[in-house]
Amino acid sequence: MTNEHPFIEDIPAYAIGALDAAHAAVLQTHLKTCQTCQAELAAYGVVSDALLMALPAQMPPAALRRRLLTRLPGAQKREARPKLAWSFNQFAFGFAMFLLLALNAFSVFQMLSLQRQQAVLARQVQTGQTALAALAYPETRSLPISGENITGTLLLDEERNVAVVIAWNLPALQASQTYQIWLIDPQGKRTSGGIFTPQTDLPFTSVSVLSPGSLSNFTGIGVTVEPAGGSSQPTGKRIFKVDF
Ligand SMILES: [Zn+2]
Repeated sequence: MTNEHPFIEDIPAYAIGALDAAHAAVLQTHLKTCQTCQAELAAYGVVSDALLMALPAQMPPAALRRRLLTRLPGAQKREARPKLAWSFNQFAFGFAMFLLLALNAFSVFQMLSLQRQQAVLARQVQTGQTALAALAYPETRSLPISGENITGTLLLDEERNVAVVIAWNLPALQASQTYQIWLIDPQGKRTSGGIFTPQTDLPFTSVSVLSPGSLSNFTGIGVTVEPAGGSSQPTGKRIFKVDF
């Protein structure tokens, strides 16, 4: 039987396509003339199909499925949808981050602005208190200030090194300008006594004179208009001068 059908042992392998080409060719030649081997092959063929059908259908692992899907024609579009959804999430997240940052920046800006206002108000209150304290002190001198449409008082206590300018109707300045106080010594030399801008919400401005040394070293003060930030020496129009 084995001699009649020398390749019958190869049929199972041939049925599932596992036989090498050389043996397969020889078997095929034999199959053309041998009905027994044809029947054998047919039987294996049925078994093979039945085996394939008998395998339970299984979902491929997710990663393999994705790889396969991307290789299928027309699969790109189906993959594109979740990609789009992800980038929308990313966009929404980015936008939320941007809003938070903008809100933070705005809050910081507001806080700095409030701090600046607070500092200005604190300085005004301090000046007012200094003026009151100076007025209440018997040794304080009250020297009149007079200039073009300007009236006021210089409160001066040389012993305690306190000098406060209270001026009415100071003209408003441009943003690029500031008032600057000058302390004048006996030689006529000017030393900065601080810069200030008029209090826009009040008809008068009170400002402490910042003296680098004892006020008794000086013989008077003057106020000029200077570029914002002040100058090292007077360069602008003099508003008023008071001799001690
Ligand atoms: Zn045969």
